[in-house]
Parts: sequence; C-alpha cells; structure tokens
Amino acid sequence: MELDNVLTSDGAYEDVKAPSEFPRNQLDIKEELGQGEFGSVYKAEAWKISGTSGTTVVAVKELKGMSTAAASTAFFRELAVLKLLGTHPNVVSFLGCCTDTEPFYLVLEYVSGGSLQSTLRTSRTQQTYGNLHGGSKSLSSRDLTRFAWDVAKGMAFLSSKKILHRDLATRNVLVSADRTCKVSDFGFSREGDEYERTAKTRLPVRWMAPESLFHRKYTTKTDVWAFGVLLWEIVTLGATPYPGMSKREVMDGVHQGYRMDKPKHCDQKFYTLMLSCWNADPARRLEFRKIRRTLESLMETEHDYINLASLDENTYQSLQTATDEKY
Ligand code: AMP
Repeated sequence: MELDNVLTSDGAYEDVKAPSEFPRNQLDIKEELGQGEFGSVYKAEAWKISGTSGTTVVAVKELKGMSTAAASTAFFRELAVLKLLGTHPNVVSFLGCCTDTEPFYLVLEYVSGGSLQSTLRTSRTQQTYGNLHGGSKSLSSRDLTRFAWDVAKGMAFLSSKKILHRDLATRNVLVSADRTCKVSDFGFSREGDEYERTAKTRLPVRWMAPESLFHRKYTTKTDVWAFGVLLWEIVTLGATPYPGMSKREVMDGVHQGYRMDKPKHCDQKFYTLMLSCWNADPARRLEFRKIRRTLESLMETEHDYINLASLDENTYQSLQTATDEKY
C-alpha cells in the first residue's frame, strides 16, 4: 500500500512520506506489551536506531493485516502526527517506522512502568500510601501533583504544536521507571487548531466536553476538558469518572451543567483547577500553558493538595475495566 494513497477526506495527510523508515531486519521483536487500537504492541530491541551504536529497547506498534479501513486510517493518522511532533520529556518519542511491507510497525520510546491508570490503581493495594514526601514507595500527594504537572507539560507542548490528542485519559499516559509521565497513544490525534469529527468511532464519553459530545467539535480546549477529568482520576487514584452514572446519564448531566463534586480529600485549589477545565464555554477554559504554570506553582509549595489519608475508598471504588465501559 502506498502511503500517498492513505488520505483522509480533507487531504490533511497529503505529505505523509516515510523519512523515518527504519529497516525491519534491525528490529528483534520480543514479548507483547498490550493490545492497542490497531493491533498488538510489543517490546523489542532495535539495532542502531536514532543515531545510537548498539541496541535500544523500544516499543513496537503493529498494524495487523490492515484488517479494517478505520484501523489503517488510525495508524497513518498516528504516524503523520508523530512525524510532526519533535521530542519532549513528557510525550512518548517516535523513533521510526517500517511501512515498506506489512505488517506495518511504529517504533516508539519504550516506557517501562505501564499506564498512569494502572499505577494509580495499583497504589490502592498498597495500604500504606501516606502523605509523606519522598522516600516512600507508595504514592504521596506530591507524586500525584507531579503526575498532573508532567501531563500538563506534555499537553502544553502538544498544543503549542497545534496537535490535538482527543483521547487524553490516565489510560493513555505511560509512566517511566523514574515515574515521569509521558503522554501516549495518538491514534485519535489530528494536527490543526480545530477539527470536526465525522467518523463513527468508540467515544470516550466520560472524558468528553459538551461541544464534542453534542456538536462533534474538537479543539485544544476539548483536550483541556479531558485534562480536568484526568486530574479527577489522579486525585481518586484511578476511579472511573462520574461514579454510579451510566454513559447516558453522564451525557445528559454534562449537557445540563452537572459537574463532578470535589472529592473530600482534594484541596480546593486543585478542584478549582478541575472546574476551570470544565467551563461550558471552551473559550473560558484555561490554556494548557496556564494549567502548567498553576501546577508548577503548586509543586513549589510543601502543601498536600491531595490528602490520601482521607480518601473515601467506598465512593471512589469504581474501577471499570469491561471493554464496553473502557470509555
Ligand atoms: P496503545 O495502543 O497505545 O493503547 O497501547 C496498548 C498497550 O501497549 C498500553 O496499554 C501499554 O501497556 C503498551 N504500550 C503502548 N505504548 C507503549 C510504550 N511506548 N512503551 C511501553 N508500553 C507501551
């Protein structure tokens, strides 16, 4: 399949060529890491990638058999976005691709700690999560604030490049060995300031802004709304947003101005930040640059913005994993 043939209706990917083509015989695919939008993701070793001399551990995303047109479009969409991206410590780096023949591969920076969602949820089983600063293996308030700051830095970078993520959630943020958060999974991304969605795909309803839900409208401000929901996920150690509500109830509620309450253990300043992401008027939501600065200033104080000792596990126990409720 020719890359040039893979165009969306508005021709946004016209210039997709393959300057980052990597020889597949220099890839040694190892175990499967997980299943993604278009197929499996593997751990692999790459020989002489990105100017290095030896082997580098990488993640490889595979597109199996071009099974559906939607999967193939998503793959090339991700590829096009990744090529425009550049590098940032809080965004998963793109290292190359193999698109000469099937199966097509995307070669990405390997991030060893799993998703932010699983990091948060796993921390619940460690009964000793305290509010201690440093030293502890469990998550502290400061760790959580730093996760939020990391994601805000990654998103400020993406938005400065006019890239929309469109599926920002803790499940799509990876955590490195040193606990740095990296924004990942650009299968839903598009470059451009504004984008009206027309394709029928599974929708991350609980993370979606009203204008996306009801008018299919996506801007960097709809990513800001999702960031507010991600903040809520962080504060509740990975609970499913809008606990006890069906997706239909979430849609109706958001439409009528319902917003999630302040978790009791969450500081008002943190909640104010969430609310400012959930303004019904996209123009009045904060910019990612401002969110980044706000979190930076919260990091500078020693105050605990999330009091984990008083987390109400009963209220935030909802940890949906069933596929149809992934979103
Ligand atoms: P995705 O297609 O991005 O949703 O990826 C599916 C799963 O593969 C994720 O939940 C991760 O467990 C894993 N994965 C994806 N990208 C990477 C990466 N860059 N490094 C390590 N694991 C990854």
